[in-house]
Amino acid sequence: MSSPQDLILFDIDGTLLRTEGAGRASLDAAFFRLCGWNGAMDGIDLAGATDGWILQQVRQRWGAFPEDRLQALYLEELEQRITGRASALPGVHRAVAALRKQAHVGLLTGNWREGARLKLSAINLWWEGPSAFGDDAVDRNHLVPVARRRAMALGHAVRRVVVIGDTPKDVECARAGDAIAVAVKTGFATLESLEQSQPDLLLADLDQGLDALLRLLG
Ligand SMILES: [Mg+2]
Repeated sequence: MSSPQDLILFDIDGTLLRTEGAGRASLDAAFFRLCGWNGAMDGIDLAGATDGWILQQVRQRWGAFPEDRLQALYLEELEQRITGRASALPGVHRAVAALRKQAHVGLLTGNWREGARLKLSAINLWWEGPSAFGDDAVDRNHLVPVARRRAMALGHAVRRVVVIGDTPKDVECARAGDAIAVAVKTGFATLESLEQSQPDLLLADLDQGLDALLRLLG
């Protein structure tokens, strides 16, 4: 084992990038192609949700469907939509690069792994790391231990875990996984709800906030 390092886990949507609704539109299109349902995603709050949880919500409202086929259609639709609609949030490339010099850096996201790869590839920011995805659990609060186990399986000794995300659900999942919670204001939550969730650090974005983040890890 190497000497212990921190494990930093980034959420994707609202934290590293925006997709201008490409994810929601791709799910809607996939449900329409598979089941003929119009507006299957209406009224479903995607902020901080895992893809598996989203499917559960649709199943409860609309009925059963073959999930593996839905996932395949969604990824097809997403691949077509994502280019040109995904944009990196301020400072994310620099922040990920700086953190990778001093820590193990992965993803903690509700996206299925392939959806995560498509989204991050669209902004040239996909990397392989000890990560946890929507494929690993329906409940986001179960994802920190998954990433921690993957880091250990790679031979990494993990000192602290830090979860960086844009919603109170990211803060909650950090708490559930005994991790440090860093919130960024670049995403889908109101400032008030983020403050109420009491993260250890609340950043305007990963550009202005990088120094504070490095100090926290220092
Ligand atoms: Mg998010």
